[in-house]
Amino acid sequence: VLRCRGLRKEFGGQVVLDGLDLTVAEHQVVALIGASGSGKSTLLRCVNLLEELHDGTIELDGEEISAPGIDPDKVRRRIGMVFQSYNLFPHLSVLDNVTLAPRRVHRRSRAEAETRARELLDRVGLAAKADAYPDRLSGGQQQRVAIVRALANSPRLLLLDEVTSALDPELVGEVLTMIRDLKAEGMTMVLATHEMGFAREVADQVCFLDAGRVVESGPPEQVLAHPTQPRTRQFLARII
Ligand code: ATP
Ligand code: MG
Repeated sequence: VLRCRGLRKEFGGQVVLDGLDLTVAEHQVVALIGASGSGKSTLLRCVNLLEELHDGTIELDGEEISAPGIDPDKVRRRIGMVFQSYNLFPHLSVLDNVTLAPRRVHRRSRAEAETRARELLDRVGLAAKADAYPDRLSGGQQQRVAIVRALANSPRLLLLDEVTSALDPELVGEVLTMIRDLKAEGMTMVLATHEMGFAREVADQVCFLDAGRVVESGPPEQVLAHPTQPRTRQFLARII
């Protein structure tokens, strides 16, 4: 589904992605781990074409989306992205938050968009909240609505950036359950996370980033339990 090759990104002379390679197969869940500042969010933002690359290529389903002349809006219709702070529109109801993009960007009718939105909300137990405004929801509920909103476009790929780190511990579980269910349905996902236990459980592949490179990647039990690279060992020793 996704293939990144030699990605390079600098911010004001600071190299943030340094020749990064990443391949994500269909139905695969890839967890990005690494210290703060290692480039996880920047990588996800580059994949969603929210940042300009200085070098390298990104392919989505075999099409080079990093090529000049590609319409970023078209690409973003095929990719769902959810951030740490859920970024719901406060002045719109849950239903309107979820149906906004399908109606505006995909030109779906209101009825069609709302049917799909209610179906998705129902699946995550939020059907009763369709007409509520975001400030009436808990953080966990808001984040689940943000994920539903990303799913409303039926994306090929879902990018999740620390989607539980702004939540109170007792609300983390409901969001993790939702991600688990998405995996069971075969959604292809790349998620940046500081939750090693969750990465171990849900990821097919764990990538350890250090200074904008993938230093080590492989199945969770290999990278998290038996890392071969000194940088990975240092990182894991510090956080456990
Ligand atoms: P965290 O775990 O804290 O979320 P991260 O791995 O997601 O960290 P990034 O947010 O990708 O790290 O940041 C990587 C580096 O790029 C950091 O040094 C950061 O300061 C820098 N950076 C990110 N965005 C910008 C920006 N818009 N302008 C300047 N520097 C930036
Ligand atoms: Mg980040």
